[in-house]
Amino acid sequence: MNASFLDYKVPRMGDAPPIEIALIETQDAEGPFGAKAAAEPTINATIAAIANAIAHATGHRFHELPMNPARVLGMLAARAATPLALKPWKRPFNAEVAAVRGLYPGVVFPVLRKVGTRFARLPDKAAKPDLAVPTSLAGLVQELERPGRRARILAGGTDMLVGLRQGIYDPDLLVDVTGIAELRGIREADGWLHVGAATTLAEVLESELAQRALPALAEGVRMIATPQIRRVATVAGDLCQEKRCWFFRSAFPCYKLGGSTCPCFAVQGDSRHHSILGARRCAAPCPADLAPILAALDARLVVAGPGGLRVLAMADLYLWSGLTSLRHGEAIVRVEIPLPRESTQAFEKFAQRQGDFAEASVAVRLEWRGDRLVAARIALGAVSPFPARATASERALCGTRPDARRIRSAAEMTVHGSLPLADNAHKTHLLVTLAERAIARACA
Ligand SMILES: Cc1cc2nc3c(=O)[nH]c(=O)nc-3n(C[C@H](O)[C@H](O)[C@H](O)COP(=O)(O)OP(=O)(O)OC[C@H]3O[C@@H](n4cnc5c(N)ncnc54)[C@H](O)[C@@H]3O)c2cc1C
Ligand code: SF4
Repeated sequence: MNASFLDYKVPRMGDAPPIEIALIETQDAEGPFGAKAAAEPTINATIAAIANAIAHATGHRFHELPMNPARVLGMLAARAATPLALKPWKRPFNAEVAAVRGLYPGVVFPVLRKVGTRFARLPDKAAKPDLAVPTSLAGLVQELERPGRRARILAGGTDMLVGLRQGIYDPDLLVDVTGIAELRGIREADGWLHVGAATTLAEVLESELAQRALPALAEGVRMIATPQIRRVATVAGDLCQEKRCWFFRSAFPCYKLGGSTCPCFAVQGDSRHHSILGARRCAAPCPADLAPILAALDARLVVAGPGGLRVLAMADLYLWSGLTSLRHGEAIVRVEIPLPRESTQAFEKFAQRQGDFAEASVAVRLEWRGDRLVAARIALGAVSPFPARATASERALCGTRPDARRIRSAAEMTVHGSLPLADNAHKTHLLVTLAERAIARACA
């Protein structure tokens, strides 16, 4: 854990007396060979050792489980010398959300759980969709718009195939796009980088052009998943992947899976990975790292459908986490990214493990005239159902020569309007730190 994260004071060792482990060697008359248990004793000592390590590092002793990173970060956040100003009133709908959350334990959750879930419409996990393998864009659209079919695109399958088993995708026809030449490859055209929708993340990383012209894109893709997954996972697949909310992924009959009569299990359940900004009835954040990066880079999407091709701004892609504005029969053909001249970029992400989904991420693109900043794009990932733009921070930086104080102040504005859940207040500090680092790096 990075000490600069919250500027907390390292405690004196004497503040937290360690837990002593005592192994009592007696025979149990009931157990085979006198044994009391087979595996648990080793686990007991591990838990105490972890509790001691946390106490020594932070001065805080946890007396309850779980002792996970989210709780440790939450504790440090609560102890921070200068609390962040969240200003939840900056998003007026937060008042309504807070009121409903307040009624959740006693009224809303019990009623929706008991009565509402009876009307849940859950996908059939055992259903086996048909497979179509078109070789042209026209063939793809034809398959996708087949009347009466619930067609979905299959690209690398790293989310779709897992999601089918989890019961979160419900197609009766999968349309494989990996053999369609129009959807593959990376090239430059009129000052834009065109990246085919079915181009793999590994191909983006291998592109010398992308590395040179769009460092934030290259940095971000390198942090997605593992080399094995990047070899098959595609650009459009990353953008269109489903939510990672663990209630949803475990096929709980929640609002987003079962329908509007169902509750959100994250309000009272484990919400450490959920949204802190812009959540309403569903608090699942957008998991795609490419989403904030492409938003900050002002990318646009070319979409094919029954009516031909149309252009969609990144800002208009999402209706909610995992839910896009693509219409029946439509597919993303390519992503187009402007290649700016006088711009600097940076992407910062925090994940609990290398290759894991972001807890929070920040993508920054700054445009300069000399040493004066003339335009800024700051997009936030994994903290909101959409790749949220930090427009107040952008305004605070524009027209200035940013110094450390101004950068910190702009970074703190990224959490204005946030309304964390019970377990994810630590994400506010995380976001500010990532924003500060990303802006500072783009300025440097
Ligand atoms: C272990 C693991 C770690 C991961 N870590 C990260 C991470 O750190 N950051 C991150 O961002 N992601 C992460 N991911 C998610 C991963 O990036 C996605 O699973 C992957 O990008 C999806 O691409 P795919 O080609 O496999 O899509 P598929 O699984 O084939 O499809 C996913 C969705 O995209 C839709 N789709 C695909 N192509 C198109 C198109 N052309 N037009 C419209 N819709 C389309 C499909 O219909 C489906 O809804 C991780 C996944 C795993 C398994
Ligand atoms: S956060 Fe969204 S997906 Fe998760 S349980 Fe709540 S409604 Fe369902």
